[in-house]
Amino acid sequence: MSQAGTPVQQALDTLMHRVFRAEVLDMHAYVVAPAEGLIKLDAMENPFGLPTDLATALAERLAGIGLNRYPPGDLSGFRARLGKAFGMPAGVALTLGNGSDELIHLLTQACARPGACVLSAWPSFTMYRLSSVLNGCRFIGVPLGQDLRLDVDAMVQTIQAQQPALVFLSYPNNPTGDLPDTSAIHRILSAAPGLVVVDEAYQPFARSTWIDQLPKHPNLLVLRTVSKLGLAGLRLGYLCGAPQLVAQIDKVRPPYNVNVLTLAAIDFLLDHLDVFEEQAAQICLERTRLATHLGSLGGITVYPSSANFLLIRLPPERHASTVLSGMRNRGVLVKDVSAMHPLLHNCLRITVGTPQENDALITALRATIVSDNSN
Ligand SMILES: *Cc1c(COP(=O)(O)O)cnc(C)c1O
Repeated sequence: MSQAGTPVQQALDTLMHRVFRAEVLDMHAYVVAPAEGLIKLDAMENPFGLPTDLATALAERLAGIGLNRYPPGDLSGFRARLGKAFGMPAGVALTLGNGSDELIHLLTQACARPGACVLSAWPSFTMYRLSSVLNGCRFIGVPLGQDLRLDVDAMVQTIQAQQPALVFLSYPNNPTGDLPDTSAIHRILSAAPGLVVVDEAYQPFARSTWIDQLPKHPNLLVLRTVSKLGLAGLRLGYLCGAPQLVAQIDKVRPPYNVNVLTLAAIDFLLDHLDVFEEQAAQICLERTRLATHLGSLGGITVYPSSANFLLIRLPPERHASTVLSGMRNRGVLVKDVSAMHPLLHNCLRITVGTPQENDALITALRATIVSDNSN
């Protein structure tokens, strides 16, 4: 039975508007699409999982962890080991996050001086805007070009006009897969009066990084995560940059934000990075194969991608939402990004899966398009 209009409901309504910020009341909760029984190609997850022998050895390691204790106060050894494993140069510091999502929040929170603005190319990763709004910063999204690549001139002009405290650059960009040119990043680094965060969530597939450039650029920060590499469930991100900058973010960080099981699992898995590197290499090969197949389906534009997903644009007579549900009925889940931005009209984002999953995806997409034709 509906409670609307009852005195309790009215009291709750008044209470909500009295206590919650307008930005929060206006927000929509982050929706994760139900995926049970479906081939899940919507969230840029590594499809392979851990080899059984590695999973068993990891379980043994985790069994020895004392869950009654808080995580250690001094994680300098862990940070050094992590930095070394992922190519962080000497003289650079890092701080840890509960996923890089948390680090995006902390960075924005730390820079949210009155009137501060945050800038990114747009469309890009949703969290940049969300964190800005939640921290009371003005968010500026500089539209990508019609080719869905970074519009460097527009970025530089807007940076000069707006003087953002923070610039987020998804490198490569989610949801387009585009890897901005080196010269573009250099121009943005020179133009920016504040921090430039190069978000390398897809670095395992791009094989191009700014981490070794950190000592040369005082306003550069590099954001990384183990999520797309194959450990999304562990929730570990890290932010690298000049020690003085990283120390400020560290003050905002909740103590114990990375739990003991994650710390132990990563510590163990750092000795087995070759497994993940091999999986990433296979995903890159599959990306090429999938792109060729999708491109041959007729009328579909496949955008070049340096990440573990492909952005495609359906021909004008198709509707992304119809194709999405047609594919879902055939057991394959992808992401409809068409409502995110006018530039993404009729676009779907497809995570690269295993060879079998990619075959199933191609079959489902072809069948959906054929059956739509016969209607
Ligand atoms: C997936 C993604 C992240 C989030 O990573 P987590 O570490 O899982 O929070 C960050 N940035 C971009 C661009 C992403 O696509």
